Amino acid sequence: MDIERISSNEIKIKNRQRIYQYIRMNGPVSKQDLVVALQLSLPTVTQNLEYLKKAALIDSSRKITNTGGRNATAFTYLKRAKMAIGIYITAHHMNGVAVNLSGDVETMIREQQDFDLDDEGYLKKLGRLVEKVRKEALIKEEDLLGVGISVPGLVSDDGEMVIYGRTLNFTGKTKKEIAKYIPYPCRLVHDSYAAGYIEAWKNQNVKNAFYISLSNSIGGSVIIDHEIYQGDTQKGGEIGHMTVVPKDGERCYCGKRGCFDTVCRAGNLDQYTNGNLEAFFEKLAQKDPKAMELWETYLDYLALAVHNIRVLFDGKVILGGYVGAYIGEYLEELCRRVDEYDSFGEQAKDYVLACHYTKEASAAGAAVFYIDEFLEGI
Ligand SMILES: [Zn+2]
Repeated sequence: MDIERISSNEIKIKNRQRIYQYIRMNGPVSKQDLVVALQLSLPTVTQNLEYLKKAALIDSSRKITNTGGRNATAFTYLKRAKMAIGIYITAHHMNGVAVNLSGDVETMIREQQDFDLDDEGYLKKLGRLVEKVRKEALIKEEDLLGVGISVPGLVSDDGEMVIYGRTLNFTGKTKKEIAKYIPYPCRLVHDSYAAGYIEAWKNQNVKNAFYISLSNSIGGSVIIDHEIYQGDTQKGGEIGHMTVVPKDGERCYCGKRGCFDTVCRAGNLDQYTNGNLEAFFEKLAQKDPKAMELWETYLDYLALAVHNIRVLFDGKVILGGYVGAYIGEYLEELCRRVDEYDSFGEQAKDYVLACHYTKEASAAGAAVFYIDEFLEGI
């Protein structure tokens, strides 16, 4: 093959991607803005804008009002040009979201349904949920990039199989089985990876991060240089099973005692309010003594974990999951406790973040895998 031809083609693609991304991040912009910002020639910019317009990925129907000179054409990126769907299946729910190219959740449907992958009816319902989300979000079939299926378990690197699904006893299930009634490209995604990934994806200031999902069980993910770090056996970031109470700790669902999961899962808080976390935080806001006592213990363990993570990874620590959705108000107090462990003269407020996606981060994150694939292929 002709090496020179490949490389010139690569440059062409790269230029197109740079132009598209610039409009995506900075739009509306004029042709001249692109020439200056990207140091490209006017013909190159013009040619690529034509391509992107033809592909219906950008809009050029508006004008930028210049003071003095002629009004220039404004190029805007169309965030709904393509869409992706994310599904999250858990013990008692199946939730679906539609996500646009900016990662915004446009439609969210939550359905109560007990997890049973051996039940044909359950699988059909999963297929119907995808269709419901697609129709409600007004996504044409040809504009749907794919369906990411987030599962509470570890997933093989290619997104084809569950390699550890002990929480719901579904180890070994394949994408083919789970997505039997979903007629679109699909892949399985580990829920904590999905949630962590979209948090880092959305926030340009996050390059390296550890995401902790504080839900009914605890998950985590490591993001290094904007990419998920999976480890040797796809267990990277499984902070739920870090031992924090080595002696006489509570029994974890993994079979061991004293895991981080046993002290910081959401149940440690909402056990007091019949499984209603919102009610727990209402009680906490009212300074209910029992709620305060539970919260004290919870924050202490969380602070310890945050400190240890920071020491190991030197990146941002993002708190998500059910408890992460409420953490904002208590972040200062948490940071104060983290700072008590500090060895390097750092301040936790500079690296501890509350999650951006307080609802359905795992579903939305699973969809983002398809958006990435699309953006790379422009
Ligand atoms: Zn465990």
